[in-house]
Amino acid sequence: MSTFRNFKMVDYVVYGRGSFNQLEDILAPHRKDDLPMIFLVDHFFEGKELANRIPVRGADKIIFADVTYEPKTTQVDALADALKDEFGMVSGVIGIGGGSTMDLAKAVSLMMNNPGSSADYQGWDLVKRPGVYKAGIPTLSGTGAEVSRTTVLTGPTRKLGMNSDFTPFNQIVLDPELTANAPVNQRFYTGMDCYIHCIESLTGTYLNEFSKSYGEKALDLCRYIFLEKDTWDDECDDKLMMASYAGGMSIAYSQVGVAHAVSYGLSYLLGTKHGIGNCIVMNHIEEYYPEGVAEFKRMVEKNGIEIPQGICKNVSEDQFDTMINVSLGMKPLWENALGKDWEKIMTREKLRELYGKL
Ligand code: NAD
Ligand code: ZN
Repeated sequence: MSTFRNFKMVDYVVYGRGSFNQLEDILAPHRKDDLPMIFLVDHFFEGKELANRIPVRGADKIIFADVTYEPKTTQVDALADALKDEFGMVSGVIGIGGGSTMDLAKAVSLMMNNPGSSADYQGWDLVKRPGVYKAGIPTLSGTGAEVSRTTVLTGPTRKLGMNSDFTPFNQIVLDPELTANAPVNQRFYTGMDCYIHCIESLTGTYLNEFSKSYGEKALDLCRYIFLEKDTWDDECDDKLMMASYAGGMSIAYSQVGVAHAVSYGLSYLLGTKHGIGNCIVMNHIEEYYPEGVAEFKRMVEKNGIEIPQGICKNVSEDQFDTMINVSLGMKPLWENALGKDWEKIMTREKLRELYGKL
């Protein structure tokens, strides 16, 4: 095994206000014969102006993705099967939306060229063939899904990504104008995903100078946006988009940690969404991230956000067990957070107690 990870990155990046207008020029060289481009668009934009600005040509198709729940393997398979039935093959899949829509686009692209179900590929390096051309266009900033080598899916037995060198986008279009109308709470939860990535990466045992450089930059941007600024403006959208990118780059070469490992259990059992789930957990883990949690609480207060409490109050012991199993299954996250002896530190009892507080 190689000592140093040699990781695949996004092929092309365009950044800037209005860069979405270049989409037609960007896609043109990737159109194959008469095969359509598929625009997978967050359902929030159905009937909105952005949908009319999509450069639909020939047989191209816009599909509005229902992201009420986070992406499931069944949803990915149904989308890919429907495209194969309708078109045989497509030129590419373009995801326009938050982390959920971008993840769906990555996964559907991969499943156009790989047999079976997306559930067969949940894990590390199980994907064997490149997908079709794929591009990601975020309309929310924070997850880092635009730069990551994974697409997080809830499958029949686990919530786990299709991590592979074939997973990163061929192209991303970072246009901060697209995030302008995001609701305040959602924008905060997704923004905190980035902040939490930074804390988990910068305090983790996997940290190296590569991760640290990106993590520190993302952290500075988050502090400026969520603590120094008094009102949200274009500058905040510009900076949060770059914070998300840098935060994603930071964890590409390290890992996330306690908040994510615990939040995955919530999400698996209760369907709690990623951003808000991380915030719910972050509120209670000062033992692991004393400074990060204190600063997080200041951000919550300054931005006037309510973090839900008591979400586990009706959870049964069997269900606690399920959450604990899902969470402890995320071994690299725990190892990054607590070191090689993490199993001695984070026992089932300790984790049960933590879930009980949420
Ligand atoms: P999301 O994509 O789940 O969207 C949240 C809500 O915001 C949805 O209701 C959506 O319709 C709405 N929305 C999106 N853009 C909007 C806009 N501009 N204006 C108004 N509403 C808008 O939220 P998210 O936090 O960006 O993504 C979370 C997802 O990302 C989870 O599924 C998580 O697993 C995934 N994720 C993936 C990675 C990765 O590396 N692949 C990393 C972190 C999180
Ligand atoms: Zn995250």
